[in-house]
Amino acid sequence: MNEPSARSVDVLVVGAGPAGLAAATRLAARGAGRVLVLDREQQPGGVPRHCEQRGFGPPGRWWTGPEYAARAAEAAVGAGAELSCGTTALGWAGPTTLDTTGPQGPERITARTVVLATGARERPRSARLVPGTRPAGVLTTGELQQTVHLYGQQAGRRAVVVGAEPVAYVALDALRRAGTETVAMVTGLPRSQAHAARAQWARLVGRVPLLTGAEVVEVLGRPRLTGLRLRRHDGRGAVLACDTVVFTGDFTPDQVLARQGGIALDAGTRGPAVDAAFRTSHPGVFAVGSVLHAAESARVAAHEGALAARSVLCHLTGPGRWPTAGATVRVEPPLRWIAPNRLTAGAPTACTFLLRTDRFLARPLLRVSQDGRTLHCERLHRTAVPGRPVPLSGTWTAQVDQEGGAVRVEVD
Ligand SMILES: Cc1cc2nc3c(=O)[nH]c(=O)nc-3n(C[C@H](O)[C@H](O)[C@H](O)COP(=O)(O)OP(=O)(O)OC[C@H]3O[C@@H](n4cnc5c(N)ncnc54)[C@H](O)[C@@H]3O)c2cc1C
Repeated sequence: MNEPSARSVDVLVVGAGPAGLAAATRLAARGAGRVLVLDREQQPGGVPRHCEQRGFGPPGRWWTGPEYAARAAEAAVGAGAELSCGTTALGWAGPTTLDTTGPQGPERITARTVVLATGARERPRSARLVPGTRPAGVLTTGELQQTVHLYGQQAGRRAVVVGAEPVAYVALDALRRAGTETVAMVTGLPRSQAHAARAQWARLVGRVPLLTGAEVVEVLGRPRLTGLRLRRHDGRGAVLACDTVVFTGDFTPDQVLARQGGIALDAGTRGPAVDAAFRTSHPGVFAVGSVLHAAESARVAAHEGALAARSVLCHLTGPGRWPTAGATVRVEPPLRWIAPNRLTAGAPTACTFLLRTDRFLARPLLRVSQDGRTLHCERLHRTAVPGRPVPLSGTWTAQVDQEGGAVRVEVD
C-alpha cells in the first residue's frame, strides 16, 4: 500500500453539508488560516443536493436543495476555504489527525482543530427490524430521492410511505414527480406529525389516505415487492398491495468517525455529546449539525456551524483548558433526547436547547432540575410533536452546579 502523503491545516471540517460549509465559510472569512473541508461525495452540499423541493434557506426565499447546496459551497470557497470532494475520512492517526482517502490517494491530515459535520442517516428497513422477504422496491427517503432526482430512474407504480413526519411528505412529493401513485401513508402515531395544512393537502388534494395507529409487520413478495402486511393497534390486520415502500424519517447520527476516535456519545441523541460551544469530550474536536441531533432543518444545521466557528476561533487564538468534566443533561420519557447535552464552565449561557418527544404533548410544562433542585420551568405554548423540534431556553445554565449530578429535563 502507498505511504500516505501528509499535510497540516488549521481547521479540518469533515462533511460538506450545510453545517460543515457554514462553519468553514465563517472560519475562513474570519481569518482562521487554512480551512479544509472534506466530503466523501463527488459534490458538496450534503443532503440538500438530492432534495428537489423548495424548502431551504431563509424563510421567504425557499430555494431548492441543489440551489441551496450550490450557494453554500460557493460561499465557503469564496471565503477562502478549500473543498476536497470524493475524499473520505477513514479514521484517526492522532488526537486531531485523520487518515483520508481520495482522488490523490491516501493522505494523513493534521489539524489544529477538527470540526465533525458528518450528518445523519435514515435507518433502513433492516435496522427497523421489519421481517419478511428481501424484494426490490424497499427504499428510504434518501434512496428514493437519489433514484428519482440524481439518477432519473423509475420508482415503481404503487407506493406506500411509512411515516408521517415532514420528511415523509418530502417522499410523497418525490413519488408524485416520479409519476408513482402513493396508495397510503402509514404511521403508528394517532395523527400526522406535519403541519396541518401540509397533511390536509396530501389527504384532500393528493388523495393519499393516512392510516394511523398501524405498523408494518411484514414485507411480502420476491423478486419485487408485492405488498405490506399491516397490524392496526386495535388488533386488526390488512395487506396493502404495492411495489414500492419508502421507510421515512427514522434518523440516526452518522457518528462512526466520532466513535472511532473514542469521543463520548450521548445516550439520547446517539451523536457526540457536546456543550453549548459545540466542544466534544475530545480536546480540539468540535461537532455540529445532524451528527449531533438527527435531523433538524438545514437552517438549524448551518446556524450551528456558524456559531461553532466562534468557539473554534477562540480555541485557535487562545487555547485554554479544554473542559472534560461538567454535568450532563438527560431527559425523562416521553422526551427522547436533548442537545446540547453537556454543561461545562466557559460555554455560552445564552443558548437554546433542542428536544424531541416520542408522544404528542399538548402545551407541556418542561421542568429542569439538578439533584432535586428545580432550576427552571417553562410552558410550551403549542403542542410538542414527535419528529419536530421542541425548543427550551438555556437561561438556567448559570445555576448549574458543575460538580453536581446530572441535570434532568422532564414533562410535569
Ligand atoms: C429527505 C430530506 C428532506 C429534507 N428537507 C429539508 C427541507 O426542505 N428544508 C430544510 O431546511 N431541511 C431539510 N432537511 C434537513 C437537512 O437536509 C439537514 O438538516 C441538513 O442536511 C443537515 O446538514 P449537515 O451538514 O449536518 O449534514 P448532511 O447534509 O447530512 O451532510 C453531511 C456530509 O458529511 C459527509 N460525510 C459523512 N461522513 C464522512 C466521512 N467520513 N468523510 C467525508 N465525508 C463524510 C456526507 O457525505 C455528507 O455530505 C431534509 C432532510 C432529508 C433527509
